[in-house]
Amino acid sequence: MTDSTQVALLGMDRNELGALAERLDEPAYRAQQLLEAVYRQRVESVEQISTLPQQLRAKLAEKNVSVGVPRIEQRFVSVDGTVRYLLAFADGQSVETVWMPEGDGGEASEAEAGDSEVRGAARGWGRATICISSQVGCAVDCQFCLTALLGVKRNLTAGEIVGQVLAVLKDQKVSPQHDRINLVFMGMGEPFLNYDNFIKAVRLLVQEVGLAESRMTVSTAGIVPRIHDFGQEEIRPRLAISLNASNDDQRTKLMPLNKKYNLGMLIAAARAFPLRNRERVTFEYVLLHNVNDLPENAREVVELLRGIKARMNLIALNPGPGIDFETPADEAVAAFQQILRDAGILTFVRRPRGRDIYAACGQLKRTVEIATAPVP
Ligand code: SAH
Repeated sequence: MTDSTQVALLGMDRNELGALAERLDEPAYRAQQLLEAVYRQRVESVEQISTLPQQLRAKLAEKNVSVGVPRIEQRFVSVDGTVRYLLAFADGQSVETVWMPEGDGGEASEAEAGDSEVRGAARGWGRATICISSQVGCAVDCQFCLTALLGVKRNLTAGEIVGQVLAVLKDQKVSPQHDRINLVFMGMGEPFLNYDNFIKAVRLLVQEVGLAESRMTVSTAGIVPRIHDFGQEEIRPRLAISLNASNDDQRTKLMPLNKKYNLGMLIAAARAFPLRNRERVTFEYVLLHNVNDLPENAREVVELLRGIKARMNLIALNPGPGIDFETPADEAVAAFQQILRDAGILTFVRRPRGRDIYAACGQLKRTVEIATAPVP
């Protein structure tokens, strides 16, 4: 550790904090104090860690050790209560993180809803979902997604992924110990292209922040080898796969990544995925008017998912500037859903959240760059 580089506590696990304590000639129990302060108390500066002697706090500051919580740069509040945050990191890069009181009707944990709503209800919102980003921008280039227009700038560190959650919990004055918080890795970026940092963040969120694995869902555009790795993880969220098309030709046009990992490989990975008790693989399908929303597409989806313990979330396209597709009519969405349901597939339509503030699925693109665009 040189004195000129910033070292962030956020993102370090127990072992790393232990090593830090050792380097500073501090007793091993400092690791526990730091864990508590950073992940449970959610301090924002080393100065605020009141369990440490003043001298040690000064020493940490001297060595350029900071906590590393992202700064809330902007906050947009939707008419439906959704809040879109623009969060900035130490190097000036930023991502978007979304707070959705009551969820969006589509997250994977909803099927299990109903157990502990009481306390949340008393607070007036029942439950909430935080949608976090895994990269600055995205490299996958899905044709219907605004984030794709940014390209990928860089991966987020584990600390930056966890930091989004801490910043929102703090701003909303909630905690996973008292409130019913769901977490979805469905913001900017492809989590499975930043796999190691993503998994490290998951472990910290479960073991130190105290979020339940069963209330966390990660969505992938279909990085097949990582789906296999993910299935072997001891601590892992639920899996969601962005299907978005019913055959290879169509999927390759909409998601160029399909050239590398085609539907055959993707569906085989989903089929082989080791599910836990009462767990299902969630599929997401963005409906595009007259492109992939026809009855024949629904029938192809039924064939693809045959024999998989699946749950389907349909999402009517959320529009945006530079996106050359149209949102299907409600009737087309309902007809598509009916075909899947008739075939025995558990199918839900995800309610768009925060469309008016560009917070909905596929609309995250860093405000600054779309602030002047008209909101449909
Ligand atoms: N990169 C990951 C995580 C992002 S999840 C993934 O692709 O799964 C974001 C979800 O929103 C994906 O299911 C994606 O298919 C969907 N989506 C993207 N653009 C959209 C849009 N314009 N309207 C509705 N949903 C969209």
